[in-house]
Amino acid sequence: MTSEPRSTVQGAQEAPRLTQVEGSLYALQVPIPYPMGFVTVLIDTAAPVTLIDTALDTLEARAAIEDALAALNLRWEDVQRVIITHHHPDHYGLAGMIEARSGAQVYMLDIDIARGEQYWHRWDEWLPGHARHFLEHGVPPEAMAGHAAESRRTRERIQPAQHVLPLHEGDTLALAGHTWEVLWLPGHADGHLGLWQPDLSLLIAGDAILPRISPNVGLYAYSRPDPLGDYLGTLARLEALNPARAVVGHHGPVMDAVAERARTLTAHHHERLELVTRTLGEQAMNAYQLSFVMFPRELSESSRRFAVAETLAHAEYLRLHGGLGRRWDGSSWVYFRS
Ligand SMILES: [Zn+2]
Repeated sequence: MTSEPRSTVQGAQEAPRLTQVEGSLYALQVPIPYPMGFVTVLIDTAAPVTLIDTALDTLEARAAIEDALAALNLRWEDVQRVIITHHHPDHYGLAGMIEARSGAQVYMLDIDIARGEQYWHRWDEWLPGHARHFLEHGVPPEAMAGHAAESRRTRERIQPAQHVLPLHEGDTLALAGHTWEVLWLPGHADGHLGLWQPDLSLLIAGDAILPRISPNVGLYAYSRPDPLGDYLGTLARLEALNPARAVVGHHGPVMDAVAERARTLTAHHHERLELVTRTLGEQAMNAYQLSFVMFPRELSESSRRFAVAETLAHAEYLRLHGGLGRRWDGSSWVYFRS
């Protein structure tokens, strides 16, 4: 098996925008205003017509999806089902618009409905907690100056769904003429969903695994307590599953050598854990300070917050599994080698 598309429909700009993955299942590269450039939106043209992931609500994204639907002889109104791999804005953004436009039923993993998806509904209420989380881990107030405005900008590009129906780990569903198993692949998001088709050895992976970049694994204000522990478990599971191909959220749409990539990412996180242990052996630090050891490059204010959250996921992993302690120094949590 290779990651070569089996056939393509040429898009107007970068080729190919629309790739046939398997039978009636197509992968569309939709532009997003993030460094990855594109997010993968899957379209199953067989009944029930299904989208998997939706991109942020931008004019470019709406146009890209609309054009692809038209190329497949479909309109928004024909979409009957939307499955979201995880609640992050670039995957969830248009869910509510499609639901309103077509009456499609929107599905997510039960765990993401209870946690991440709530964020878009309770945004005003939760925002102060997000800011406090970063401040308590040492981010200086001046480095939080853009947080509220940036969060608001993201929120404006989200159309939350009115009703989201739960899928559960182990459920099965029909897609592209096959039966797929629902997987819970936590780490990048608490309730990250995967879909697995064993006969095709094909995984719909979202951002649970990506080529070229390591998916952000961060501890945020409302995360499960050990996102890195969750993610290492997910990587072990993907390695054991050993899919021939995976449809991925970015830099895809399709990758092969999934088990090998899972091993590489596992080794990467273990190296990062060693760096944290070594650094804190010399000097106790809060997560913000430690993030400059983990991510020494100059970063934008918002990228620095991602770096802090990822650093924190590593520090908390070591605290929960032994080796590190933390103490409150009056203004932030300081991690130390215990
Ligand atoms: Zn993503």
